[in-house]
Amino acid sequence: MRLAEVAERLGIEEWRIKGALERQSIQQIDNFNPPYLIFRKDVAGVERGTAVFLGEEVTVVRGFPKIMRAFYLEPLVRRHFSSRVAVEEKMNGYNVRVALVEGRVLALTRGGYVCPYTTARLSARRRIGRFLKENPGKVLCGEAVGTRNPYVVHHYPEAGEFGFFAFDIRDAAGNRAMPVLERNRLLEEYGIEHVRFFGIFKKEEATEAVFRVVRELAQEGREGVVIKDPEMRLPPIKYTSSQTNASDLAYAFRFPYEYGRDFFFSRIIREGFQAVEWDEGEAELEERALRLGKSILLPMVESIRRVRDGEVLTEDHVLDFAGEEELEEFLTYLRRQGVSVVVDEVERKDGGVRVVLRRLRRSSTDRIRSVLSGRGE
Ligand code: ATP
Ligand code: MG
Repeated sequence: MRLAEVAERLGIEEWRIKGALERQSIQQIDNFNPPYLIFRKDVAGVERGTAVFLGEEVTVVRGFPKIMRAFYLEPLVRRHFSSRVAVEEKMNGYNVRVALVEGRVLALTRGGYVCPYTTARLSARRRIGRFLKENPGKVLCGEAVGTRNPYVVHHYPEAGEFGFFAFDIRDAAGNRAMPVLERNRLLEEYGIEHVRFFGIFKKEEATEAVFRVVRELAQEGREGVVIKDPEMRLPPIKYTSSQTNASDLAYAFRFPYEYGRDFFFSRIIREGFQAVEWDEGEAELEERALRLGKSILLPMVESIRRVRDGEVLTEDHVLDFAGEEELEEFLTYLRRQGVSVVVDEVERKDGGVRVVLRRLRRSSTDRIRSVLSGRGE
């Protein structure tokens, strides 16, 4: 393998990469053309999720950095930012980096895998292809949203079944993000949709503005905001609504043994800090408590009942494929990732295939079944 070349492109020492490969912090994917390396952990300052394609040339696509979350907003904004902040919508879908690799448009998941489903949809978009060809070395980062995808199903009226909304333009190799106004201008020039932009605020006024925006977004069933340094020199901060929190919890408690305890804990703690910072009175607290409690209890009760009645818990996604081949490719991809699915219903029209993909939630089914059959925890 061309370790020296890879090391040079990443600006790190070769022995670091060698060591990481041995420890499997870097994994090589050989069943793709070109083969590529995936960083499963941070290695010498290179982010987890980084992909390095070993084609005729070496193409680096750096990982998307983790975004810090605000629990209690005002003091964090004051300490973290310099004078002004940009506020934009945080959409609830899945993170996608789109890059040009050897002339092809590829869509990468957060972990760094080329996702065949997302790649098929985004490589069909001429504006994205044009943008990447005319801006070499750039990566388009955005949220894929809508109701037809294998990862996060959430309805956005403007997105339909599959939407892509850009939120960053980054240097593929160095990961530097473009300032927000310049980014918006460039995206608009190419006719590529971006996340809703609420404006640039003095940091002293930002918290108020964010609370107002987040409340409005919550009313529309939308997630929240990301607050960014307009120059993109400081790391962004995310802040979300209680309603989103509740719907995440409700989703996760359908399969209570599938998610890590941290997932639940963090979402419960957020409610406490937000209630205090929003200075809530008795009625508002009551409403929050009810929302939180229902989001935990109701889906769990439903799942326990389903298992009691003999069902196996599954998470279902309706997906469209251009043809049999595309479907098979995607199923192979999922199986390689160790995901167990059954394809349950098929409908064909105009050469396309629509399937219901049922992902088996084994841990939750088994643990619930075991408790119901008289075993203690
Ligand atoms: P993270 O590792 O970044 O905390 P997470 O899986 O916990 O990721 P989220 O809580 O959804 O994710 O928050 C971060 C994600 O929000 C980003 O990875 C990105 O996909 C998504 N996102 C949506 N809208 C924006 C936006 N406007 N700017 C940046 N990221 C956004
Ligand atoms: Mg998200």
